[in-house]
Amino acid sequence: MIDTQKYIGSDIATILAQKGLDGNSGPAPKGVWLDKLKAVGKNDVERVLNEPAGVYRLERLLTLVSPAAQDYLEQMAQIAHQLTVQRFGKTIRLFAPLYLSNYCVNSCMYCGFSKKHDFKRTRLTIDQAVRDADIIAGEGFTDILLVSSEDRKFIGVDYLEELAGRLRDKFSSISMEIYRLSSEKYGRLFRAGIEGVTIFQETYDRKLYEYYHPAGPKADYDSRLREPDDFAGAGMRQTGLGVLLGLNDWRVEALALAEHAHYLMKRYWRSQVSFSFPRMRPACEVEASQFKHLLSDKNLVQMITALRLCFADAGLVISTRERAKLRDNLIKLGITKMSAGSKTNPGGYSGQTDVGEQFEVNDTRSAAEISVMLKSNGLEPVWKDWDKAYIH
Ligand code: SF4
Repeated sequence: MIDTQKYIGSDIATILAQKGLDGNSGPAPKGVWLDKLKAVGKNDVERVLNEPAGVYRLERLLTLVSPAAQDYLEQMAQIAHQLTVQRFGKTIRLFAPLYLSNYCVNSCMYCGFSKKHDFKRTRLTIDQAVRDADIIAGEGFTDILLVSSEDRKFIGVDYLEELAGRLRDKFSSISMEIYRLSSEKYGRLFRAGIEGVTIFQETYDRKLYEYYHPAGPKADYDSRLREPDDFAGAGMRQTGLGVLLGLNDWRVEALALAEHAHYLMKRYWRSQVSFSFPRMRPACEVEASQFKHLLSDKNLVQMITALRLCFADAGLVISTRERAKLRDNLIKLGITKMSAGSKTNPGGYSGQTDVGEQFEVNDTRSAAEISVMLKSNGLEPVWKDWDKAYIH
């Protein structure tokens, strides 16, 4: 058994390397983890399912994401649902992404916004962004996610600070998914009213990371890995993590992702960690079928429920990348937050632009339709982040 306590003084890069979860080094490189996963038997799964749920141990997650656990999905789903209702009530928080720019200096091979792709691009002025935000607010959302490609010259910290100032009274929660900043800049944005940051490591495997990120600032694996330390350390209340599902074996990625979350939870306990589950989607010049590790729906369910069974209090987020019918089922398995009515191109809500989207949205239902669906499933759509009100 690996003693996680032993690594408390280490940073996340060291922890992953020592455990061989960066695919590169350590006593248990990727092949060893795949063997361990295969070696899990039904008795192991039954033993783990009989333990109290909601507490993380690496071996526990390994058992729950193993091929042997696939036969226990029904049971895992029931426990995940009960645990989620206990911790979060029968609620689902709704949010909408607001894309600000699709100019990018990076060339991530899976992304429609890669600088190598030839398509019509745009960036929103602050007034244009506020116009889209007004439409989002008009649909009932009070939780907004600002999204931008790496377009530092235009979507800089001054821009984000000013935009946050103009959105603060319209939204109870503003978070962002942009590019790497320094701790000091995260601090500025936190003070301006942005309370959360989502950052996907994409893959924790160093060699695959290098392959999929051939150029640009994002090619620096270690810098990206340490980013949550910087923003959680700067006070951000929400830490969103995830991997792009399809780049690597999902089971090994789930282990590395969980180690990262566990590490952050110990150090930055004021920041709530949530997991997102983005699966590869077709995009401009990107065919999902060119990726070797695509997940089935069953795999996705196993990953979501396994993480819930190990992290009782983590937010679990599902986006409109997934199709409507599947999302309707996933909300009963531990999901706490979902996007709705999303547009993944800048200016997409108001139709101010006609530029390319980052990926094809799968669930195209409006926020109102999602709300009706949630209610018909006995769930309360939550538009407002009451949590923030309590803290203030
Ligand atoms: S994933 Fe992000 S950084 Fe990479 S090309 Fe797309 S928008 Fe740019």
